[in-house]
Amino acid sequence: MKSKFETVIGLEIHVQLNTKSKAFCRDSNLFGLAPNSQVGIVSLAHPGTLPYPNKEQVYSAIKLGLAIDSQINRVSTFDRKNYFYADLPKGYQITQDQTPVCVGGQIPIKVGDQTKLIQIHHIHMEEDAGKSIHDQNASHSLIDFNRAGTPLLEIVTEPDLRSGEEVDALMSAVRQLVRYLDISDGNMEQGSMRCDCNISIRPQGSTTLGNRCEVKNLNSMRFAKKAIQYEVKRQISLTQKGETIQQQTLNFNPTTGRTTPIRTKEDAHDYRYFPEPDMPPIVVSQKKIAALKAALPKLPWDYEQTFLSYGLSPKDSILLAQDLDLAEYYESFVSTYEQAIPFANLLINQIRPTLTGKINDYPISQEYLAQFLTLINDKTINKSLAIKQLLPNMLAQPSVSPKELVKAFSQEKDNNSNQLAETISNIIAAHPDKVKAYRNGKKGLLGFFMGEVMKQTRGQADPGASRKILLKALERAH
Ligand code: ADP
Ligand code: MG
Repeated sequence: MKSKFETVIGLEIHVQLNTKSKAFCRDSNLFGLAPNSQVGIVSLAHPGTLPYPNKEQVYSAIKLGLAIDSQINRVSTFDRKNYFYADLPKGYQITQDQTPVCVGGQIPIKVGDQTKLIQIHHIHMEEDAGKSIHDQNASHSLIDFNRAGTPLLEIVTEPDLRSGEEVDALMSAVRQLVRYLDISDGNMEQGSMRCDCNISIRPQGSTTLGNRCEVKNLNSMRFAKKAIQYEVKRQISLTQKGETIQQQTLNFNPTTGRTTPIRTKEDAHDYRYFPEPDMPPIVVSQKKIAALKAALPKLPWDYEQTFLSYGLSPKDSILLAQDLDLAEYYESFVSTYEQAIPFANLLINQIRPTLTGKINDYPISQEYLAQFLTLINDKTINKSLAIKQLLPNMLAQPSVSPKELVKAFSQEKDNNSNQLAETISNIIAAHPDKVKAYRNGKKGLLGFFMGEVMKQTRGQADPGASRKILLKALERAH
């Protein structure tokens, strides 16, 4: 039964950037190092220290904005967002409130077999806080400041999403995009991508927004979907009881599968935003923006279009556009050797499942793979034999062309069958009375001759071929 309510969701997606150093100082931005080993005086907010911008963070933001057709603000400014938390040494976060670096734009997501455009409100730059660890010590919370000052982009969407599946699709699209642009590893398990989910419900058909609740810091799609499911149920049941939804900030507890309030209504003025006095506005030249634009790779949705135009199915087009390496590799093959569909099948069914590293490190050259397809196409070798025998041979000897390998293979086959014929004629010559008996009608003697062939070849002879040659020899000698 269709619900009487529609779910409305807007996301704030945090992406940790893969810059060498932190957002506002030179401390290293590497993940996974010993706790509190990447913390200089700026990260720890010693009095009198001054932040300075990291141009790689600015360029990463602009690249992402250009990729999704945002309007780029040539001049953008930083603001302070004030709040108290033990893992925030300054007592405020440097972020962008008034004039973020990118405004607007849209990201296509896949919903069933449709594409839906999710409108982006803006993208801003900010810094991460340190990490509080509450579950390692019974009486104390621990803090690792390595993460403090990690450069982040926050992507804020319009409330355009309608389900957990759409949220999942958007997070996947963003992960794919930041990897294409090489600005983040997009790794959710390590916390490189997290999202806050703003969730409300409204009667089907309504165009006004209901009061929303914000579930903070979801770093797994499974949890995000559960949190949304729980929250939607909770809001519907309150509404049906005639109660109003309180605007709240919530935590999701994966163990109970429930959301619990952290604080009620939180508005911008609670943070007393004001312009960051220690940092000048960020100004980027038109020329630099144009250069960043020119250096963008071809994007996932453009690759998908190209692959569809080759005649691939939507599913295969999406698969081959999954990461930039693979998409570039496939496109370059097709533009040199054509064979778009046979090569897509080979890549998807044979090559990709056996890859251990990057496609560019695959031992067999594109030239030899093209030759391989041609050998199948012109029926020099049958397809299943090619896949079962020739391809493994090519992998074992990647510097030998498949043509050479096939030649050597058929020569060996010829040698083998010459040898077999010789063995059989020796057997015939050695048993004249059995040959005679056979010709006089004891056809059962064929079994005896077959047995001799197998004995002399130590079971190596092909039974079908042996039988054929034997019958011929027995008849011929009439
Ligand atoms: P704030 O500035 O208080 O964080 P915003 O208006 O900037 O709030 O919205 C933050 C996020 O919440 C955006 O992704 C937006 O799309 C989403 N959002 C706003 N109102 C609603 C609502 N009623 N239901 C669902 N999402 C909403
Ligand atoms: Mg917010």
